[in-house]
Amino acid sequence: MGRVAVVTGGTRGIGGAISIALKEAGYTVAAGYVGNDEAAARFREVTHIGVYKFDVGDFAACENAVAQIEQDLGPIDVLVNNAGVTRDGTMHKMDFEQWDKVIQTNLGSCFNMSRCVIDGMRQRGFGRIVNIGSINGQAGQYGQVNYAAAKSGIHGFTKALAQEGAAKGITVNAIAPGYIDTDMVRAVPENVLEKIIARVPVGRLGKAEEIARGVLFLVNDEAGFITGSTLSINGGQHMY
Ligand code: NDP
Repeated sequence: MGRVAVVTGGTRGIGGAISIALKEAGYTVAAGYVGNDEAAARFREVTHIGVYKFDVGDFAACENAVAQIEQDLGPIDVLVNNAGVTRDGTMHKMDFEQWDKVIQTNLGSCFNMSRCVIDGMRQRGFGRIVNIGSINGQAGQYGQVNYAAAKSGIHGFTKALAQEGAAKGITVNAIAPGYIDTDMVRAVPENVLEKIIARVPVGRLGKAEEIARGVLFLVNDEAGFITGSTLSINGGQHMY
């Protein structure tokens, strides 16, 4: 039987491409989402991938979802912490809810989900965790102290958990995407986006499938010597 993979935020955007790539590579996939039932239903219909609705910022909800997924599909071998949100604003205009929502969804989720799968991975002596960071966690970004802090935190989280998991066959890596053509980036005003693309040496936005390729590489059974690393996939925009 193939390995079981969970992709949070796995029903659209980058996560959708990751879910599909994993399924095509033979993994049994569970795709999480939080509110967009229509997109999730469409995704399930087209891909035949199981979808699970829960808030990754809520620890109890993650516990329930992981238990349900394991009951439906079996023990989880691969976790992709991909779900993320933005609530942009400069510091002097940002309220606590904007801060808290982004920290809980982007960073708290990595603890919540990893904590729920780590015992099983340790017992079985195998695990692959990939956390989706961001170029803006590496370089910072005007109007994104919340998002940059959360994504930067992911990179520290990855290195610490990688050290803990190494002796148990668990690798933990991060991917830091540059600007990828998804709903999140389509929400950026066009004039701002033009300026961003002008700073990308490759001269275009990335594709979700290009991030999925990186995930597939890192979760492979044969990638056991790659741990604690961050793979930047950003068209050369930021060389870290
Ligand atoms: P999208 O906005 O296109 O999709 C986000 C996904 O996350 C959706 O499936 C959404 O569910 C889910 N999600 C959001 N909040 C929660 C939550 N609280 N609990 C569970 N699921 C949730 O995002 P992208 O595909 O663009 O981004 C994916 C990841 O990549 C994010 O972590 C993002 O920060 C990161 N990233 C993206 C970049 C880009 O250029 N697009 C660049 C760098 C990093 P639902 O459909 O129900 O809303």
